[in-house]
Amino acid sequence: MGVADTITCIDCGGTCHRIPFEAPELGWQQGDVVTYRCGDCMDLWYLEVAEDDLDGNPLSPDVPGR
Ligand SMILES: [Zn+2]
Repeated sequence: MGVADTITCIDCGGTCHRIPFEAPELGWQQGDVVTYRCGDCMDLWYLEVAEDDLDGNPLSPDVPGR
């Protein structure tokens, strides 16, 4: 699943879009801060990437085989 492209605005219930939309070249890492901007009230939200968000992380050391 990975890091969400959008979240729901805590203030107005609108849709907040991730900035930037593209994932980093090396993939997300735990502790990265992801920025979302609400399309309705333009508030900014900052979410830290949790371990649960890193499904399929290419940097994962325990990927079997090649
Ligand atoms: Zn909002």
